[in-house]
Amino acid sequence: MKLLVIGSGGREHALVWKLAQSPHATQMWCAPGNAGIARERLARNALPVECVDIAAENLPQLLAFARENKIDLTVVGPDNPLALGIVDLFQRNGLRIWGPGQKAAQFESSKVFSQWFMERYGIPTARAGTFSEPAPAKAFAASLDGKCVVKADGLALGKGVLICGNIAEAEKAVDEIMVGKAFGAAGASVVIQEFLEGIEVSLHALCDGKTAKLFPTSQDHKRALDGDQGLNTGGMGTYSPAPFLNDAELKKVGDAILNPWLRGCAAEKIDFRGILYPGVMLTKNGPRVLEFNARFGDPETQVYLTRLENDLVELLDASVNGMLGRIELKWNPMASVCVVMASGGYPGNYAKGKPIYGLDETSRLSHVKVFHAGTALKDGHVVTNGGRVLGVTALGKDLKSAQAAAYAAVQKIQFEGAQYRRDIAAKAF
Ligand code: AMP
Repeated sequence: MKLLVIGSGGREHALVWKLAQSPHATQMWCAPGNAGIARERLARNALPVECVDIAAENLPQLLAFARENKIDLTVVGPDNPLALGIVDLFQRNGLRIWGPGQKAAQFESSKVFSQWFMERYGIPTARAGTFSEPAPAKAFAASLDGKCVVKADGLALGKGVLICGNIAEAEKAVDEIMVGKAFGAAGASVVIQEFLEGIEVSLHALCDGKTAKLFPTSQDHKRALDGDQGLNTGGMGTYSPAPFLNDAELKKVGDAILNPWLRGCAAEKIDFRGILYPGVMLTKNGPRVLEFNARFGDPETQVYLTRLENDLVELLDASVNGMLGRIELKWNPMASVCVVMASGGYPGNYAKGKPIYGLDETSRLSHVKVFHAGTALKDGHVVTNGGRVLGVTALGKDLKSAQAAAYAAVQKIQFEGAQYRRDIAAKAF
């Protein structure tokens, strides 16, 4: 099978790495990819994965490339092309592609849509209101004493969510998003949710339009600094499994979310084929969905795919064909920990082009995989090329050993200004 993966981050490197292990993969491209992806080879024939210089949002060029190269299956990593309707476009042109169509991708591209859907179909979520005018939005925030989270409706690079502790902060947040248009058109409407306390976990379910297969638990670390201090980031590290739910509890939480979600999708004629990734707060009153994403998490993918034992080509194929019902997901019982190494200054301004040392040494470690996120090749050497640079991922017999192995590998890698959290997975202990 000829495969095309779209995207350039750590998630896409993990997808490429796992897909490349499948005997079904005969040739693979990644658009635009990164330096780590370009080093992967297919297990079946040792052919290298080729990176093609087409941006993930350049739908016409991606379509032309897929047609020209007779791609059998395109795999979409990031949310943007999904929200832009890449799946619908490819399907109209007779090409097979994995990911939700534009209507189904609304679970991520519109927080107003998601909130309405959750309330309509009884999915446990935060008490919330949706607003297209600032005055009623502020009145609702005041009814919560200002202890709320104000969310821009549309995609805002993960930044359109403002956490408020009092009425003044909430009013400022509403003004920033709705009047000041801090996130542009994404802020024409907002969702305001009550602020929830608890433990946050990431759930993932692979869906085929009728069935949703739940993954094990994982936990992300969104803040830049140890102890959940500092600014919000795309994610500084993950681990799986997270110990806050045992198997029976996970099944219960999954059912409470996915059963009404599947019923709602059927009622609304939403044909969701892809990953549904609910962000969930485990509160003392039970689980509450904070938001839905419509793709693999980054860096959740890195810990999930190092534990997944199934052939990923077969899984994604079954997801596209509506045949997941017959498949059982198999997980390595070992634990996985991913530590993100970022450029100095991230998530603010940072420099690019810093040479990275130690990658060859870490590639010889067993049970360790260094996924590239923001990297590029310059004169044959791997250099930094983004905020999140590497996702150093290790398996261990338990979380403690996986954590130790991941940090031992991190110690072997150097680039100027490298920053990373020292406490990934610490919450589990
Ligand atoms: P979202 O993009 O909606 O997941 O929000 C980003 C982050 O904001 C989440 O990962 C949570 O840490 C936090 N957050 C979102 N909604 C709430 C809420 N209702 N209560 C507390 N924290 C929240």
